[in-house]
Amino acid sequence: MADIIQLLPDHVANQIAAGEVVQRPASVVKELLENAIDAKATSIKLIIKDAGKTLVQVIDNGKGMSLTDARMCFERHATSKIRKAEDLFNIHTKGFRGEALASIAAIAHVELKTKIEGEEIGTQICIEGSHVNSQEPIVTPTGTTISVKNLFYNIPARRNFLKSNTVEIRHIIDEFHRVGLAHPQIEFILLSNGTSIFNLPSSNIRQRIVNIFGAKTNEKLVPVSEETDIVVVDGFIIKPEFAKKSRGEQFFFVNNRYIKSSYLHHAILSAFEGLIKDSSQPGYFLFLEVDTQSIDINIHPTKTEIKFDDEHSIYAMLRSTIKHSLGQFSIAPVLDFNKDSGLDTPYDYNQKKPVPPTIEVDRNFNPFQRDSSQGNFNPTYKREKTSSWEAMYVGLENGASVEKFSKHDLKFESDEVTGNLFDTNESERGRSTFQLQNKYLISPVKSGMMVIHQNLAHQRILYEELLKNITVKEAVSQQLLFPLQIQLSSIDIAIIKNIQEQLEHTGFVFSAFKEDTLEISGIPVTITESQIPSILEQLINDINEEIPEPGFSQNDLLAKSLAKSFAVKTGTSLNKEEQEHIIHQLFACKEPTIAPNNKPILITIDASDLDKKFM
Ligand code: ADP
Ligand code: MG
Repeated sequence: MADIIQLLPDHVANQIAAGEVVQRPASVVKELLENAIDAKATSIKLIIKDAGKTLVQVIDNGKGMSLTDARMCFERHATSKIRKAEDLFNIHTKGFRGEALASIAAIAHVELKTKIEGEEIGTQICIEGSHVNSQEPIVTPTGTTISVKNLFYNIPARRNFLKSNTVEIRHIIDEFHRVGLAHPQIEFILLSNGTSIFNLPSSNIRQRIVNIFGAKTNEKLVPVSEETDIVVVDGFIIKPEFAKKSRGEQFFFVNNRYIKSSYLHHAILSAFEGLIKDSSQPGYFLFLEVDTQSIDINIHPTKTEIKFDDEHSIYAMLRSTIKHSLGQFSIAPVLDFNKDSGLDTPYDYNQKKPVPPTIEVDRNFNPFQRDSSQGNFNPTYKREKTSSWEAMYVGLENGASVEKFSKHDLKFESDEVTGNLFDTNESERGRSTFQLQNKYLISPVKSGMMVIHQNLAHQRILYEELLKNITVKEAVSQQLLFPLQIQLSSIDIAIIKNIQEQLEHTGFVFSAFKEDTLEISGIPVTITESQIPSILEQLINDINEEIPEPGFSQNDLLAKSLAKSFAVKTGTSLNKEEQEHIIHQLFACKEPTIAPNNKPILITIDASDLDKKFM
């Protein structure tokens, strides 16, 4: 049989390698920024178009490349960063595999302009799918400019696989944050479609964090600093009271390289234990310095995991350092331990002084005294006590919750949809509906009983209502006496601006978009002013985590997110009228059984099933 094995041509090998190195525009951003840093640039500008799908350009003032190097850098395994195998154990640069540029050039149109210090003339190279189209002398400043155009132009399957611009730009910004935080002394600029998104001057780490995440961040930071034989730790943690619902601001850097480590993350979690709610995430920016010989980073070009020789000691040290910082800055617990997230005190109650529980003892009460006037084991007496305690734990007296509801959605709708699902007439059903554990609404139906999840039910109701408002553009808004100023990072402001119109259809009125402040002068009638920051946080979070499906709609996402924020929470006690109202509205919905997040809203328990239990 004839020989059949052949060596793959270079451009094919490069394309295959590209599959590993370049997943999306953000991977190109990462590689190019890292190359600029390795070239000792002090100022780096990143320019993107269409979330990097059309253009990723990095302009640096680093050391540049000679004429030969400019040609060489696109060869596979071409690197200036290691020379012998031992160098692998002593890596101080970002790259070393010499694969990035070769891979990128295999799957895009790449243009390189570069010049080294002291030379008059630089070099320009144009390369397409690993094929060099031209190399010419050019006048250009010292440093390097690389433009990567039309990523995956020759691999349509990969190009089609890219997510929406919102998602891709989020990935780019994540990389930008990581690189920017790791190198505060370098100036970074990010322009997207001609608009400046970040302009980060050379600074210290604290200023860098504030420049990226907004002026408000400054007061939230607590410094962390510790030095031992094996590791030096520096950086900041975010005060526990500012913990977020999302894993937003969690950064580990080891020797100025961003890494992920669930093990070390756990060390932080355990240091924060008892200080934040279980559902919240601590924020941190931690910089670890370890001997390069004691870690193993590389293995894979895009891997952000790392292996430490002495993981346990680093864990213990990190945990105690953070505990120490939390203690030193006397950050007292501000939240209850293991508090149910549904039990958040409403804003109006923050101002009110807590009323200490008083124990009333009926000194005359004697359970052994069977006196009819005393009402032995008086059930009414006992029930009254329980319910007032319950109300206190819930943090919402019935009165307060009625007020919150009655203002807006406590009008009864015409009752044609409910049909005869329920076996009793209205007034009887009203009497027989009840609430279980401040979480479920129980209602009798013909076949047995129905258990409705109050929060999910209300989400469904609001979701349909919001979706309608957004599309038919009708909204009721309450004007605020004083416009609300909300500080956000510039990228978050851009996100809100992007959906301004839809938000206005739900009742928001925005009076100004400033660089790091959002001014709101009107809000939907169904919410209170104090809820706004957390609603916006949730919304931005949801948008950032959005996974677009075909047919995905921004309106849908918005309605889902707001419905989640506005809906009556688990743990809220509802009076009969409110319970009734939710059930009514639910059955007027198009889809009363499934919540916007696809969870079931209700279950029915057949009387026949109950019968079986009693056999
Ligand atoms: P690696 O970074 O792993 O060495 P790359 O393919 O990213 O591999 O880059 C190949 C080489 O090209 C680098 O080792 C470096 O010498 C050179 N190079 C790449 N980008 C720049 C830049 N912005 N400035 C100067 N030299 C660069
Ligand atoms: Mg590199």
